[in-house]
Amino acid sequence: MSRSDIIAAVATAPGRAGIGIVRVSGPRLGEFAFMLLGRRLPSRRAVLADFLDSAQQAIDNGLALFFPGPRSYTGEDVLELHGHGGPVVLQLVLRRCLELGARLAEPGEFTRRAFLNDKLDLAQAESIADLIDASTVRAARCALRSLQGAFSERIDALVKGLTELRLLVEATLDFPEEDIEMLERAGAEQRLADLNAELARIEAASQQGSLLREGMHIVLAGQPNVGKSSLLNRLAGEELAIVTEVPGTTRDAIRQSIDLDGVPAHVIDTAGLRESDDLVEGLGIARTWAAIEKADLVMLIMDCRNGETADDQRIQERLPAALPRVKVMNKIDLTGQSAAKKNQDGSIVVWLSAKTGEGVDLLRSLLLEAAGWRGDAEGLFMARERHLEALSIARLQLERAQTRTGQIELLAEELRLAQAALGGITGELTSDDLLGQIFSRFCIGK
Ligand code: GDP
Repeated sequence: MSRSDIIAAVATAPGRAGIGIVRVSGPRLGEFAFMLLGRRLPSRRAVLADFLDSAQQAIDNGLALFFPGPRSYTGEDVLELHGHGGPVVLQLVLRRCLELGARLAEPGEFTRRAFLNDKLDLAQAESIADLIDASTVRAARCALRSLQGAFSERIDALVKGLTELRLLVEATLDFPEEDIEMLERAGAEQRLADLNAELARIEAASQQGSLLREGMHIVLAGQPNVGKSSLLNRLAGEELAIVTEVPGTTRDAIRQSIDLDGVPAHVIDTAGLRESDDLVEGLGIARTWAAIEKADLVMLIMDCRNGETADDQRIQERLPAALPRVKVMNKIDLTGQSAAKKNQDGSIVVWLSAKTGEGVDLLRSLLLEAAGWRGDAEGLFMARERHLEALSIARLQLERAQTRTGQIELLAEELRLAQAALGGITGELTSDDLLGQIFSRFCIGK
């Protein structure tokens, strides 16, 4: 991909809206803007202008903003056209940009250019996509912190410490007679231990953060009318809950996302799980089963007046045996029992009422705990699988390095590998393939 061509895309979401933005990035956009607007644009100041077609007829009228590089999002010249947010008018403006020599931007290409021009590092670029995709308030805050560089700073500091240690170790390689003593004098072992401890802290914060990004997956099971939907609504909390139906065919696996104290929880409904000869329905069922295989736990809801029925046992037999179970005895308001939590035959049972809300907090904290959430949202990093992998490789290398302080060559090599793994997080060492994978998941226009 050439970095010197002009790219353009509609940057706002499809559909109708008050405002729609077409974004253009590339070298020397001053001339481009002149052709499009019939006038020269000042830097970084909004100008009300007609957007003109090739016959100099107005397509739209709106605000034009010109950010000359390198002080722009991508580091190149950037032109933003804030017009009216209708699909047709936006397509007309975009088409005119293509006529003037731009090509359609690929997904994430603006941000990719920003990365290549050192406007942000790779972890920050990823956090932009995470911020846009965030499904809870907590997840959004966490992504923003990474965007502002909190995660990258911790990684960079670690890489810096490793670099210093490597310099020291590699310098001693040149003076073999006094090598070990020299390292001892410089406190190499202590430094290595400190780096390892910091790495462990970052890893823990990242694992928690990754839960915010990925969310937990809960399989919801239970007979009709035991109160599954009532309980979901309760769990999701009041106004702040963002309840979304994942689009799909109606006969597909029903997946709802709820907000459990800021942790996204994806609930897979098993209601539609029954044997079927219908091909489409069968496909939906197959997908539900695939989702169940990957879930974190099963929540089986029952009516406490009936207890566990033969049907409940049948459902459980079909679910993977290894999945942790939480059983809920609902409707305690009808029997006068009080909320409680007990361990029974290897699974946890919670008595509650979805109707009055009694015991629902108990269940909520239990679910969060089961998913490994420790509740300390401050200081978390919204890590991706890729980051966790790099952190774990680096930790492995550092642990090995700690056993090699007597073998300088091996120690130097372990340190080098640890640094390389960490460098990959912020994008110091990244292949084009990886960049392609990361940015292709962005939306167009970002
Ligand atoms: P689902 O079919 O399992 O999703 O069950 P619903 O959530 O639709 O609930 C079925 C019925 O039970 C509704 O009339 C609810 O109002 C009622 N219900 C649900 N939870 C409770 C509860 O804790 N106490 C009482 N008294 N009624 C409940």
